Amino acid sequence: MKTSLWSELRGAGIGGIATLVILGGIVLLPMVYEPGVFAAMVVLVGVIGGGLWFAPRLLTSMKWHKPIRLLPDPPPPHWTSLVRERVPISQELRQEDFQRLLKLIQVFLHEKHVEGAGGFEVTEEVAVTIAAQACLLLVWRDTGMYPDLRTIIVYPSATIPKTFDPRTGLLEESGTPILGQSWDTGVVILSWSSAAQGAFDPRDGQNVVLHEFAHQLDQETGEADGVPVGLPLSAVKPWAEVMERRFRQLKAADRKGRKTVLDTYGATNYAEFFAVATEAFFEKPEQLRQKKPDLYGLLTEFYGVDPAEGMRRMDRPVA
Ligand SMILES: [Zn+2]
Repeated sequence: MKTSLWSELRGAGIGGIATLVILGGIVLLPMVYEPGVFAAMVVLVGVIGGGLWFAPRLLTSMKWHKPIRLLPDPPPPHWTSLVRERVPISQELRQEDFQRLLKLIQVFLHEKHVEGAGGFEVTEEVAVTIAAQACLLLVWRDTGMYPDLRTIIVYPSATIPKTFDPRTGLLEESGTPILGQSWDTGVVILSWSSAAQGAFDPRDGQNVVLHEFAHQLDQETGEADGVPVGLPLSAVKPWAEVMERRFRQLKAADRKGRKTVLDTYGATNYAEFFAVATEAFFEKPEQLRQKKPDLYGLLTEFYGVDPAEGMRRMDRPVA
């Protein structure tokens, strides 16, 4: 890897601004000679430049900062025992946070479509179990409800993805079985057996739903690069530096075949690193805090909770 994560991020920002400056320069220079004719072009380029570069970022930011609108009706009472039994990590939540989790599940299932595939039937229990884990990432955050996500497709077990083969004109099975996938086109794919098992054991550091929905948070910026949506600008540089340092360590551990608190699948790239770190943060918080306190610290700030201290809510400065 030649460039650092931080320099890549900074490069992308500088690149965008430089494009606007060059465009502006091209237009402004002739204005000196023909002010009337080119004045309209300034407006035009401003609108196009703003549209292409600023508008998507502004929209993303607006979507994510739009608070989740809770529904007026109370959640069904039987969800309390259902969530506690099927997603035992929820038993660690303070009462008020658990109530918020139930309200978030309600919004999630109101807004998103959970559908079965491969002959699998989505029951209320399946939908609530998945939604509970997805919403766990949002309980202590002031962001939107996965605004770009529309559909969660659930297979009975690990599935082999199909790709279109132009030679045969058929969908062919290829690659290895997957437990889950997150797309930036509004779809998350999950294996129910993995999702249920991940929820059932809240201390093994493996949770496919937390993993895929961490990807959703990451993808909302437009890039799956391990830098999720909602970070204040001042936090991006320290975030990138810690992530990169720990990512390199994980790569080295992977090469040597050494086990760490983080699954070595996280050494694939920055996006997988963030998703794997999220799993460890919620499921192995004490070990993560002890072994990688800087990474743990970043995640407590980001998720707004300190799982190693009994899911204590973090006090946030008012922005
Ligand atoms: Zn992943």
